[in-house]
Amino acid sequence: MSPNAADRVPLGCPDRVVSIIDGRPVAVSRDGRDLPVVYPASGETISLLREADEAEVSSAVAAARAAFDQGPWSRMDVNQRKDILYAIRDRLRGHAEELAHLEVLNTGIPISHVQGQVQRMTRNFEFFAEVASTLSGETYTQTSGYLTYVTREPKGVAALISPWNAPLALSSMRIAACIAFGNTCVLKPSEYTPVAVARMVELMHECGLPPGVVNLVNGRGAVTGAALVAHPGIDMVGFTGGTATGRAIMQAAGAKLKPCILELGGKSASIIDCGADLDRALDGALLGIFSNNGQQCLAGSRILVHRAVAERFIARFVERTRNLRIGDPMDPGTEIGPLAYEAHLERVLSYVDVARADGARLLVGGRRVEEARPGYYMQPTAVLAPSNGTRVCQEEIFGPFATFLLYDSLDEAIRIANDSPFGLVCYLWSGDLQAAMRVSRDVRAGTVWINTPMMRELRAPFGGFKQSGVGRDGASSSAEFFTELKTTTIPVDPPALRRLGRDDRE
Ligand code: NDP
Repeated sequence: MSPNAADRVPLGCPDRVVSIIDGRPVAVSRDGRDLPVVYPASGETISLLREADEAEVSSAVAAARAAFDQGPWSRMDVNQRKDILYAIRDRLRGHAEELAHLEVLNTGIPISHVQGQVQRMTRNFEFFAEVASTLSGETYTQTSGYLTYVTREPKGVAALISPWNAPLALSSMRIAACIAFGNTCVLKPSEYTPVAVARMVELMHECGLPPGVVNLVNGRGAVTGAALVAHPGIDMVGFTGGTATGRAIMQAAGAKLKPCILELGGKSASIIDCGADLDRALDGALLGIFSNNGQQCLAGSRILVHRAVAERFIARFVERTRNLRIGDPMDPGTEIGPLAYEAHLERVLSYVDVARADGARLLVGGRRVEEARPGYYMQPTAVLAPSNGTRVCQEEIFGPFATFLLYDSLDEAIRIANDSPFGLVCYLWSGDLQAAMRVSRDVRAGTVWINTPMMRELRAPFGGFKQSGVGRDGASSSAEFFTELKTTTIPVDPPALRRLGRDDRE
């Protein structure tokens, strides 16, 4: 733990975070609720968030509706829209350092990791600009005398709800996918991490984005988020977050038949085969669980090790875990920062007792980093579980908490990987092509990574099986979700028509 993390509260955070509606920040009224925004490394309040109530949510939806229904965004020439998306990319890139700083300040994720996420944020706009500009339709001429063509149209106004674990990367991906096809949106980020996202939305309006295309409302999920999802002016919902919240959102949206895309939680297996390159597997397993302070949906949080190599592998994992550099997230050398907020830290820590009650053995960590109080630091932790049926193997912990399990055959590893309510990703470390092919075929997960830690290919679909989600993000999958299909049929020559109601009918 590097000293002084709590003493070094960086400057540059706005005093207050407010909604941005129709391209303008909303003036703060005298009555209304403020929520504290906290720097997790020190526990200090760094800003206040003004919560948007139902009326404010309604004005945001009205602004998005007007920008969609009256244009110009939804009817704009795609090249013009593309120019604006590229201008956004450049503008955000020009402010990469500032945005990274704000993101660290608000999330506690180490700066070295956040810099990658900021790059990804800028790429999202470029990527979806290209996808939208190469979208094509279908034509059918098989029925003689008729031409039928199928076009894709923007779907309308989206409610986009994003979590706190990668605010810029995740919210920018959904915004870019949504607006590139001509839709408009209202974004609600997590109440815990609104600061960098608000700055991103502000910057987007400084480079030609018409007012009303992207609106921002802030506040708690149960208040602002719920009002947004239920609003009759919303046509579709894009949600990234926990499985329980996803279920509630889909129910609320389903009552009004609004389509949803849901990216939810995971409890993914990281399978370490006995023939794997164990040095690389060790690096990969550590990255898989401890990147982003362990707070990632695609974490390899169940590490399944072949019994033949388990003792040595786990001993090396524990040694490396003890060596992780925990500290000030602003320091480029830091590998693990604080957890996002105190209640979350307490929840993650509570799994140490859950593990003990399950009969699991604590291998390393398991405590709050006391000398870093009031910062929300937790020692990176690993346990060895007696079986996959235990709670630490079945529930998403969403922190720097690895759970080991042993297996004897690939069949058993695949069975364990699949014995989960989730199905987001699976990692395999193996030198055996046959093992790779079997895991790819038989594990029920949306993404399988063989001999690599997370490598998010934006072009390919990403999403979960089972309770890890509904729908996919990606090039064609996002086009599918964010557009409506329209079929138009035109006769080539005037077709013969039955003439109903005429006196001269035969
Ligand atoms: P939550 O589900 O608690 O919250 C996600 C978002 O939903 C927040 O903005 C939250 O607001 C909002 N929200 C909460 N309740 C409601 C409601 N009733 N109506 C509308 N909005 C609501 O998730 P976390 O923020 O805790 O994020 C962690 C979870 O996200 C993990 O389970 C993780 O696996 C998942 N995740 C999935 C990813 C994927 O791609 N599959 C990627 C990243 C994370 P607020 O926080 O302000 O209350």
